Amino acid sequence: MNPVLRCSVVTIFPDIIKSYLSASIMKRAVARGLISATVHNLRDHTTDRHRTVDDYPYGGGAGMVMKPDPFFRIANHLWPDREKRRIILLSPKGRLFTQQLAKELISDCRELVFFCGRYEAIDERVHRYLADDEISIGDYVLTGGELPALVIIDAVARLVPGVLGDSRSAEEDSFARGLLDYPHYTRPEVLDGMNVPEVLLSGNHREIEQWRRRQALTATRSLRPDVFAAYRPSEEDEKILKEIKEDS
Ligand code: SAM
Repeated sequence: MNPVLRCSVVTIFPDIIKSYLSASIMKRAVARGLISATVHNLRDHTTDRHRTVDDYPYGGGAGMVMKPDPFFRIANHLWPDREKRRIILLSPKGRLFTQQLAKELISDCRELVFFCGRYEAIDERVHRYLADDEISIGDYVLTGGELPALVIIDAVARLVPGVLGDSRSAEEDSFARGLLDYPHYTRPEVLDGMNVPEVLLSGNHREIEQWRRRQALTATRSLRPDVFAAYRPSEEDEKILKEIKEDS
């Protein structure tokens, strides 16, 4: 069976990636052949004795810049066919990663190749002439692209059928249906006077479903008005929203 998600990560810190992928759900998904994840050390694609991946910036300024040639060398060597790979450069300047983009990536049958930057920047020619895509995981700056690569791989892998024990988990998660998740409870029923909402103990599936929907709608509207504004409520949702308005 071919893995549904094929990805490779190019980094100067392979252990960061390997460590995350060798635990828990990711480890199981790789072992079961649902996803494949290969890690490449960029330094293996340098040509000098010191395996140099960075150099001083032209024009001066702070920090070091990652050299372009090792990136071109590894891409030409391992992914010469542009049709078969999507090189994703992790960058704060990229388009913002969202659940929608995770869905787009899972439906791409090309191999996803992540280039992790370090230092001040990657030479602009990698951005311009090699990358197929540039993605940011948020409006803040991290020290390297390894965490962003893992964030994206993790979010996309959860969408691969069979990776999660129960496929309903991914379907009901925040953002999957345009709303935030509803609150979850487990035992004990009472903890130091704090009760589990009664409806969840009722065994009435219709009422539980409605309560959860109401909670999801209320939370989205108050916590993430931007997400709520983009949501298209169903007829059932409209009824619940009307009730919420009347109650408040
Ligand atoms: N000078 C760059 C800038 O201001 O855009 C920041 C470079 S950052 C210190 C080093 C590397 O970390 C970047 O090349 C990128 O690969 C990664 N990185 C940092 N923040 C990121 C983010 N929010 N999303 C994706 N990658 C990020």
